[in-house]
This record gives sequence, C-alpha cells and structure tokens, in this order.
Amino acid sequence: MARKTKCRGCLVLDESKKVKYNNMYFHEGECLNKHIDHKKFLEKEQEEKDELYYKLVRIHGLEKTTDIPPLFYQKVEDLRNDNWILGRFDKKYKRGVRYSGISYTYDFCEEKIQAALNKMKDKPLLEQMNYSLGIVRNHMADAFNHLKKVNKQKQITKKIIDSIEEMKGVREKIKQVQKNSKQDDIDEKVNLVSLFD
Ligand SMILES: [Zn+2]
Repeated sequence: MARKTKCRGCLVLDESKKVKYNNMYFHEGECLNKHIDHKKFLEKEQEEKDELYYKLVRIHGLEKTTDIPPLFYQKVEDLRNDNWILGRFDKKYKRGVRYSGISYTYDFCEEKIQAALNKMKDKPLLEQMNYSLGIVRNHMADAFNHLKKVNKQKQITKKIIDSIEEMKGVREKIKQVQKNSKQDDIDEKVNLVSLFD
C-alpha cells in the first residue's frame, strides 16, 4: 500500500501521487498551480508594498521604513483590505486598493501633500502621515481616472509611432524598387499598391 501524504493545497490526506514543491506535497495540476499562483501574488504584493513604504519614507523625510508609526501601517492595511472602494472602480479591485494604486495616488497628489505638510511641521508624525493619507484617499478616484487617460494616450501614441515606422519601411521599399527599376527597365511601372500588402 502506498504511503498516505497530505496535499498542502486542498489538505486532503490520501495515497494518490503528488508532486513535491518547496518540500511540500501537492496534487499535480490544480492544487499545485493554485499554490504557485498564490505565491506569485504574494511576491508581487510584497514588491508593491515595499515600493509604497519607500515612497512614504521619502515624502515624509524619514530615514527608514521602521520610522513609520505602527498605527499608520494599520491604516494602510485597512485601505488594502477594505472593500469601501469596491464599485467605484473596476470590479477587479476585489480586495480594496492595491499598494501600487496607493503609491500612484501619492505621486498624483504629492504637491498637495507637500503643501499641507509644510503647514503642519510642528504636529506629530502620525498626524502628518494620517493627514497625507487622507488626501490620498480623497484623490483616489481622480488618480485612477488620470491613469486610465494616460494609458489610453500611450496606446494612441504607440499606434502613431508604429504607423510612422511602417511608413519608413514603405519609403525604403519604394526607394529600393525605384533604384532597381532604374537599373532594369526605366519604363517599368512600380506597382505601389503591392507595397502595402
Ligand atoms: Zn490537493
């Protein structure tokens, strides 16, 4: 009888064949794939979180991320986990706002934040940070709309650049054909239509 092993994905203990991954057993297929996807998700999450906290260090003139008050961390986590924003944006924001979305909004309203911080230099750090996060929260919708617009503009610009590149290619072809036709037969007509195939 085969040895029973527990799948770390579905937690079922059985004798079925499993694959070993990072010293854990998984049913091949769905259970393992889900685990890998989740791992990737967490890695990306950590990356975005780090980026946000480095941004906070810079904006608030701190030395290191551990200078950020723990109570403030909690506020950011609330924003990340809460669903308060659901329905106002794309439905795929299933778990509140992503860290990268918060980061982007900090950039988006940094001028406003710096202006506000200038006026509250005597206040405790937590108060300053809460205030700036409040500005961020109020501008989240604007920031996302702005990002959407920018992305659309980028797509349009890319299309224009692509068509310019394409035209350059066509011009080269025309030159080449003209050069060849001069050499071969001066009366031969260049069929330009074929160049756009
Ligand atoms: Zn399983």
